[in-house]
Amino acid sequence: ILRDAKKICQHPNKTKDGISFSLRANIEFVEELEAVEKYCAEGIGLLRTESIYLRNQQFKNVDEQESFYIKMLENTAPHPVVIRLFDAGGDKVLDNSSLEQNPFLGWRGIRMLLDQEELLEQQLKAICKAAAEFKGRVRILIPMVSTIEHISRVRALLDAAQEELSENGVEPDKDIELGIMVEVPNVALQADFFAQHVDFMSIGTNDLTQYLLAVDRGNERISKLYDQRHPAVWKLINRVSQAAQKESIPLSICGELASDPVSACCLVGMGIDDLSMNAAALPAVKKALRSHESSELHELAQNVLDAQTIGHVNELFSNWNSI
Ligand code: PEP
Ligand code: MG
Repeated sequence: ILRDAKKICQHPNKTKDGISFSLRANIEFVEELEAVEKYCAEGIGLLRTESIYLRNQQFKNVDEQESFYIKMLENTAPHPVVIRLFDAGGDKVLDNSSLEQNPFLGWRGIRMLLDQEELLEQQLKAICKAAAEFKGRVRILIPMVSTIEHISRVRALLDAAQEELSENGVEPDKDIELGIMVEVPNVALQADFFAQHVDFMSIGTNDLTQYLLAVDRGNERISKLYDQRHPAVWKLINRVSQAAQKESIPLSICGELASDPVSACCLVGMGIDDLSMNAAALPAVKKALRSHESSELHELAQNVLDAQTIGHVNELFSNWNSI
């Protein structure tokens, strides 16, 4: 952690030539709100909600969930809070009795939720209730999307939850945005198509990397092969960025890659100016972005896109570090 973190905090989120970017926090627990404030994050770019289950061994009811979301919203005003729907399965195991041979390729994220509709309905209800109290600040993020049907089914359930709210005399927040995690390679490859069906997208490089490189993100034996700075990951990210620009929808990134200062520079150079990461990483990322002109960031991105091996990428990055 940088010693001058406090000072950096007060400086605007702008590159040397005055181009704005946003830095937000990835969090999961109420206890982490302190760090969101300490490191001056512009709200929560990824609220992981699995803990609602994991901490209690059962999903909380609508009211308890609502108060969890409200606490997050109260403490981050006036910034957005991106609430990700339960992303259970894979490394976030819920129920040992349903062990699968390939959990990361199995019943996880939205695949599981759509089979447990009541759970999803409850979560959407709780989110809509919280959003109605803090209008214009809530975004809903769907994990592990791999088909358009995943999106349309969630949208229908979201509409129903909003409808129910107004039937109960509460005016819903009509501006809730619905977006998807881009973490399955087919979605990244067809990002222009998926972009037409959502309000925003967020790239999850943790999973995108494991699926693209066929390397389990948690397996120590092959951890040398798991590198989010792989040239193929950069090429795919760039493709998603171009698709989002073409379709004029906001794109952010919430995978670990964003917390690496030089990678963050490269991401902004590729046109992704909304980065979410663990809060403690914010000062170093901000310092790196503030000390460069946007043309330099763009040049770095162009060079990385020409790299063919991780070695080339690392070489480019260490030269950049010494600038
Ligand atoms: C990701 O996959 O990059 C991500 C941010 O989500 P998680 O790490 O929770 O799977
Ligand atoms: Mg993920």
